[in-house]
Amino acid sequence: MELIDTHCHLTFDDLAGDIPAILERSKAAGVTGWITVGTDPNENQKAIDLTNRVENLYAATAIHPHDAKTVTRETIAELKELAQNPKVVAIGETGLDYYYDNSPRQDQRRVFAQHLQIAAELNLPVIIHCRKAFNETIEILDRNGQDVKKVVFHCFSGSADQAKIVLSKGYHISFTGLVTFKNANKTREAAKVVPLDRLMLETDCPYMSPEPMRKQKLNEPALLIHTAKFLADLKGMDLSDFAQATTTTTKAFFALPV
Ligand SMILES: [Zn+2]
Ligand SMILES: [Zn+2]
Repeated sequence: MELIDTHCHLTFDDLAGDIPAILERSKAAGVTGWITVGTDPNENQKAIDLTNRVENLYAATAIHPHDAKTVTRETIAELKELAQNPKVVAIGETGLDYYYDNSPRQDQRRVFAQHLQIAAELNLPVIIHCRKAFNETIEILDRNGQDVKKVVFHCFSGSADQAKIVLSKGYHISFTGLVTFKNANKTREAAKVVPLDRLMLETDCPYMSPEPMRKQKLNEPALLIHTAKFLADLKGMDLSDFAQATTTTTKAFFALPV
């Protein structure tokens, strides 16, 4: 079995010191490919450096909406330069976070649009981070994302109706361990409407440990197997068939080598 963790933060302090052991446990669990996501200039560089040392590890680069207020024209120019590294397979995570509002919303909107432009220019997929900002995220994608070919809503926590809107735009949806949480009925209903050729898996580690491992505070790629099993059950499928389908979807979406 072959699963790919499409969104992890291996360069974050909680995980970065233990990479060889984390990747060994991951492979033992059948999670054999990873996309590590950078969130600021420093993390983006660390992510690319790590991909050069680990096989089947790729990077996504962006400035997280939390840090939108720090982004200047130079930041965007540097990001565009960095994202041309062959190990970078996506721009992200970018979008809007109106739950934390760590940056003023007008900065978040500006930086989101700038990321969409880079993705269009470099012909890269976009990983969307969206919290409490669904309608506006769709509006900005409609307005500024016309030339972006591939979009995935990561750590999806919306409703089935919102999932249908995302799907109707031709976008993909990725689920974390959040879908396994006891109070996540709405997200489970959403997962039911997402076909396997649009569905991807991620840990978003070090956050979001899935049930029954939620008590393990530090999530890691090996725990993706629990989310995969949960969603396979939800879809009434064998885990191996489910894994194969979502991995095929992932490889096509991020244009990973087969
Ligand atoms: Zn996110
Ligand atoms: Zn993330």
